[in-house]
Amino acid sequence: MSTIQSINPWTGELLKELSPTSPKELEQKLNTAQKTFEDWKWVSLAEKAALMHVAARILREKKEDFSRIISLEMGKVIKESRAEVEKCAWVCDFYAGKAAEFLIPEELNLPDGKKAKVIYQPLGAILAIMPWNFPFWQVFRFAAPTLMAGNVGLLKHASNVPQCALAIESVFEEAGFPIGTFQSLLIDSPTTLELLKDDRVKAVSLTGSEKAGAAVASVAGAQIKKSLLELGGSDPFIVLRDADVPTAAETAAKARMINFGQSCIAAKRFIVEEHVYEEFLEIFTQKIMGMKQGNPLDESSDYACMARPDLAQELYNQVEKSKLMGAKVILGGMKPNSESAQFSPTILTDIPASAPAFSEETFGPVASIFKVKNEEEALSLANATEFGLGASLWTSDLEKGEKLASRIESGAVFLNAMVASHPALPFGGIKKSGFGRELSRQGILEFVNHKTVYLG
Ligand code: NAP
Repeated sequence: MSTIQSINPWTGELLKELSPTSPKELEQKLNTAQKTFEDWKWVSLAEKAALMHVAARILREKKEDFSRIISLEMGKVIKESRAEVEKCAWVCDFYAGKAAEFLIPEELNLPDGKKAKVIYQPLGAILAIMPWNFPFWQVFRFAAPTLMAGNVGLLKHASNVPQCALAIESVFEEAGFPIGTFQSLLIDSPTTLELLKDDRVKAVSLTGSEKAGAAVASVAGAQIKKSLLELGGSDPFIVLRDADVPTAAETAAKARMINFGQSCIAAKRFIVEEHVYEEFLEIFTQKIMGMKQGNPLDESSDYACMARPDLAQELYNQVEKSKLMGAKVILGGMKPNSESAQFSPTILTDIPASAPAFSEETFGPVASIFKVKNEEEALSLANATEFGLGASLWTSDLEKGEKLASRIESGAVFLNAMVASHPALPFGGIKKSGFGRELSRQGILEFVNHKTVYLG
């Protein structure tokens, strides 16, 4: 890898060129990580929590600087970047406050009167391989629980957000975490896979595509190392005939357009009962048409562009193929300029099951709308996907909603709300959306040894 380029996707301007981490530096960083871990694991939870609160404070104090870096590097509008940085501060405070409770040893009383305990101990250096779409949030939701549990972190961030990677490292340094507790590595994918084979790396957490997940989990498996995979989604947003349709449709537009559609949990397939289909489609379309495109740094912009020109092209190819297979374009559908990351929000209906807009993840502002006769058809369509991350279901009958939720194949179901991550709620998928959970108590227990101590 020669240099790593930080490029503004809105203008195409080269913002900065950075040198990759050299093999010698990588070796030093690994040694530092291992050495730091030997001390860090014994640092009290109270001391760790104090540092994590400082990290939260720095994030809030430097919110404007960090938000600008995010918006410039990946094209997110500034108001969304600010919300992302605030959420990172929230997750730091959350784990600083909750880690002691989450890691409290579990006492077991055995039938023969003996006792045992399960204690939770850190593993060592954990490698995080992260995507560009929420370049701060994805990293902090990994780092806050992982460091609080006593591990140290090594970050391989997506190649198009190197400035974000370095800014995140600076938060932990400035907060006073011991050098080596959290380090960013500017390395490519092949180097990352080699790194995962190193004995000093104990486990890996990857958020990204199915392809990257399969490559990383294979290497981890061969090395008998734990992996946690947060992969893609093609989440259903189901609107039943008894739903509050205007609220559902407005929320649906927001759920599809958040982060310009580049979110794993953004609703992608909208499955609507025929009685309310026309009303839903009308409000949904109007809402999307009312959103304003503009420079990511403009306060008034609702959306800007995709994170890279190739991503816009890839998304367009999925739309075009779906169109050729019979899908109807209600809005957008225009071919983007090959040099540009801009994309026009697109709504598709009448989508055949073989079309990419049905069977693949559309990672951008493309909404696929399906009309169904009844709940049963809605459920079978919702489950007709390789993915299973987070579904949204709208009905005024919560009891029925809960019953239907239990039949949806996904890591989460949100009733009468869009799917969102929250520090206190377990987050993760099933099927090809991955395995393992982040956030909540489950998240902090992923990278620890659940050690049984038998008291004979
Ligand atoms: P990506 O291309 O898979 O990249 C994700 C990360 O993996 C990047 O750091 C990338 O590095 C690295 N990577 C790619 N191939 C690799 C390999 N063979 N070995 C080691 N590392 C590899 O995904 P993306 O385009 O950044 O993100 C979009 C995908 O992430 C979507 O599918 C989305 O649904 C998913 N996602 C899931 C969640 C979740 O929580 N479930 C959250 C956000 C995003 P380079 O940049 O250097 O290629």
